[in-house]
Amino acid sequence: MPHEGGLLAWAMIQSLVASQSSNRPSFVEELSGRLQRSPRATSLEVSVTGSHNPPDYNGLKMVLGGQTLFGDMIQDLRRRIAEDDLAHGAGEVRTADVCAAYIERIIRDVKLARPMRIVVDCGNGVAGGIAPELFRRLGCEVVELFCDVDGRFPNHHPDPSKPENLQDVIRTLRETDAELGLAFDGDGDRLGVVTKDGEIIYPDRQLMLFAEDVLSRVPGGEIIFDVKCTRNLAPWIRARGGKPTMWNTGHALVKAKLKETGAPLAGEMSGHMFFKERWFGFDDGLYSGARLLEILSARPDANAALKALPNAVSTPELNLKMNEGEPFELVKRLKASARFDGAQAVITLDGVRIEYADGFGLARPSNTTPVVVLRFEADDADALTRIQSAFRTAINGVWPGLDLPF
Ligand SMILES: [Zn+2]
Repeated sequence: MPHEGGLLAWAMIQSLVASQSSNRPSFVEELSGRLQRSPRATSLEVSVTGSHNPPDYNGLKMVLGGQTLFGDMIQDLRRRIAEDDLAHGAGEVRTADVCAAYIERIIRDVKLARPMRIVVDCGNGVAGGIAPELFRRLGCEVVELFCDVDGRFPNHHPDPSKPENLQDVIRTLRETDAELGLAFDGDGDRLGVVTKDGEIIYPDRQLMLFAEDVLSRVPGGEIIFDVKCTRNLAPWIRARGGKPTMWNTGHALVKAKLKETGAPLAGEMSGHMFFKERWFGFDDGLYSGARLLEILSARPDANAALKALPNAVSTPELNLKMNEGEPFELVKRLKASARFDGAQAVITLDGVRIEYADGFGLARPSNTTPVVVLRFEADDADALTRIQSAFRTAINGVWPGLDLPF
């Protein structure tokens, strides 16, 4: 069995194959996200992945003719399965190891200006099967942390959006002469970045670096980012001649927007980066890491280059756990009746993002787990406190008694 992080995934693949019927040749070829990186075009792609979710969560990502299925498309598929409204026939299964071709493709195109010493933390997720080799082949000296694949995640959870999961990287950067830390989520599509002195560079700031680099070759390009990202991003993109577009959070939605607009780059606060320039437009943490190293290797001091990116006082993504269905209801109530005094703009693209002169607050229902995701950012700590307290009042007003994570 190939490298596998999700313990249930192989069983899911087998039952998927067993239940698959089609009168056209089709196959389920790959596991856990790696399928999306295959340069080979297939009409149907299914990957089994639990992403960064707890080990007892697993799911399918389905791509049909290059389009990721989501929302109503998945509901429609469910209806068709329930009503047995399906084509029938015999399917075929082939297995293929795409890792070598994948690594070759990247090292052919991505060139580091100098060798770098880095810490790589895969959190025992599937990236562990590829990341150390990829980065060594790119010319790095790699200090490996938790690169053996183990779906029980015995060390820390493979989710680099949570600061507690980056503490091992921070400690290792302190104890070794590595100059940069990279961390990957469970299925390897998201990247976490830590500077030599232990500062976490959240994905919206990573995106600044990527946008600047892409815009140097694609003048006037459109850069897409989700509603969780910093207010500093749009002016940064504009100053470099690009066109900033704020969009909904969610892998499938951002990917669809990328396709629709022809933008060369999109990114999400969760760590998903979608490079269309020089790459295929899907989110891939390892590839993002390679592009980051290419940019930073051209700078004399990677630490200084990252720390120079505009910053604000902000929180990471905060999760308010609720019961299934409740997060959507809470956000609906906020949109309908909450008042936010002094707000400059109320953006309801995805959840509620309230923009003030000196910061913003966001509450949006997660697409994958029953939580409300919150994020706050401000020019200073006082403004952050004021915005958080406005949200506390608003949430308590529409749904009293919740244990708020801020
Ligand atoms: Zn992921």
